[in-house]
Amino acid sequence: MKKLKKWDYPAYEAKDKKKKTIHSRMGEKKYGYDKIPKDLVIHHIDGDKNNNQYYNIILLHRKDHKRIHLTKSLIIKSVQPSKEEKD
Ligand SMILES: [Zn+2]
Repeated sequence: MKKLKKWDYPAYEAKDKKKKTIHSRMGEKKYGYDKIPKDLVIHHIDGDKNNNQYYNIILLHRKDHKRIHLTKSLIIKSVQPSKEEKD
């Protein structure tokens, strides 16, 4: 596979000949989207743009994503949908 880049992220050429980032493709697969909705973004949990393993990518709302980068906080727990906390 040719090494392509899009916005400084590793990318590949999709069927429609457009460049697509690996992490958005992985995110689509992981979360079952054909295309990631505009208000959502795929974030690299460990901050490494080249680490596109399933465990390292998370789908976030754009607002939460911005907050994470602004505060440089990679603590994802705080933005995950809370599960039932009752025992
Ligand atoms: Zn991010």
